[in-house]
Amino acid sequence: MAGPAWGPPRLDGFILTERLGSGTYATVYKAYAKKDTREVVAIKCVAKKSLNKASVENLLTEIEILKGIRHPHIVHLKDFQWDSDNIYLIMEFCAGGDLSRFIHTRRILPEKVARVFMQHALQFLHERNISHLDLKPQNILLSSLEKPHLKLADFGFAQHMSPWDEKHVLRGSPLYMAPEMVCQRQYDARVDLWSVGVILYEALFGQPPFASRSFSELEEKIRSNRVIELPLRPPLSRDCRDLLQRLLERDPNRRISFQDFFAHPWVDLEHMPSRESLARATALVVQAVKKDQDGEAVAALSLYCQALDFFVPALHYEVDAQRKEAIKAKVRQYVSRAEELKAIVSSSNQALLKQGTSARDLLREMARDKPRLLAALEVASAATAKEEEAGGEQDALDLYQHGLGELLVLLAAEPPGRRRELLHTEVQNLMARAEYLKEQVKMRESHWAAETLDKEGLSESVRSSCTLQ
Ligand code: ADP
Ligand code: MG
Repeated sequence: MAGPAWGPPRLDGFILTERLGSGTYATVYKAYAKKDTREVVAIKCVAKKSLNKASVENLLTEIEILKGIRHPHIVHLKDFQWDSDNIYLIMEFCAGGDLSRFIHTRRILPEKVARVFMQHALQFLHERNISHLDLKPQNILLSSLEKPHLKLADFGFAQHMSPWDEKHVLRGSPLYMAPEMVCQRQYDARVDLWSVGVILYEALFGQPPFASRSFSELEEKIRSNRVIELPLRPPLSRDCRDLLQRLLERDPNRRISFQDFFAHPWVDLEHMPSRESLARATALVVQAVKKDQDGEAVAALSLYCQALDFFVPALHYEVDAQRKEAIKAKVRQYVSRAEELKAIVSSSNQALLKQGTSARDLLREMARDKPRLLAALEVASAATAKEEEAGGEQDALDLYQHGLGELLVLLAAEPPGRRRELLHTEVQNLMARAEYLKEQVKMRESHWAAETLDKEGLSESVRSSCTLQ
């Protein structure tokens, strides 16, 4: 281990102070530059003897490359030095500590917060198409606690260091390592996807899936073939469960691919704060205003909500206080228009719902001798009832789709006549309702970064104007 027990090592040009943490290979200290700036940095001391033989040189080359990388979500390597025992990496200081501490002081994170973290952390991997191989909450740092931006640390190291030491003892914690890394000792970039699954699991449920009381219990869990079960509480969105299940697939050949991962609706890279967020928000607002002028309230509302999904990351991305204020002022204006539209849409929706119900009653009268048709109409009524419950949109949508499937079959077999006409109308009504609900679910699941909004004081108004009740 680097750093003698009696205090931090000495290093030219810096005053090393408190120990920030230590990981598998290194000890990290907070330090000040002796030069005029008194700049605060973090210095990572890696003992040369912990490196694979012949790896030191490779590592130095790698460090040289890392020095050239500037990315908002990667810990910046400013410089490096070495002596006979250690390599010293002089890095930007991350005042917010690591993600492990962040999760555990909060116990669990809400889905939306976990998503923003995932997007931050993965942006770099995605853009450069490179792998980390040692992803875990301890290697994900927070720039600050007030406005946490995630930064990946420990980059480019794992390639040079086998997870097994010379005595074939596993280095580091197997809690985050993919089973193939531990069991087969043969692995590739896909281990990152497993680790992302574990981190997400821990963020949402408070502990990693293989949390154990003893090493033998842990080993059994890693070696077993059991499917990873997700706790029922806290309840998560379907997309989130689906993603977790597909990341935590033991067999790397069956695990979600990188491509499918980055396209997954929960990851939602589209709404990640970026240079484009503002332009996309603005383009959607232009369309919303146009629909609004044409009197198409539902479409306009939907577009305003989609625009807000981009305004929030745009606010997150913007660093200039004045421009940020200007965006916020606009957003408030759109939110208030969305509120008005919501009132209009929901009253006309109530009227439609009533019309649909009375048409269905008539059809039911004419279907007394048709049990299958009656059953399908029952499903449609159950859907309508669900629709009126708070938060019942997804269930209602499933029921409508089920009922529609049945009714379409029946419609195909129905001879011409009054009943066929009514059945036809019913099918059309149900389709319209299903479409409407789909819009609504989409709006409800809009991906505002709740935390940012809360801070900006916009959150409640945005959220309520985009959920129709
Ligand atoms: P290792 O390679 O040994 O795992 P890490 O680079 O992961 O070392 O650092 C170990 C710990 O030190 C981290 O988990 C974190 O708590 C702390 N740390 C590392 N780098 C920084 C930094 N730049 N700013 C603040 N804390 C840091
Ligand atoms: Mg580490």
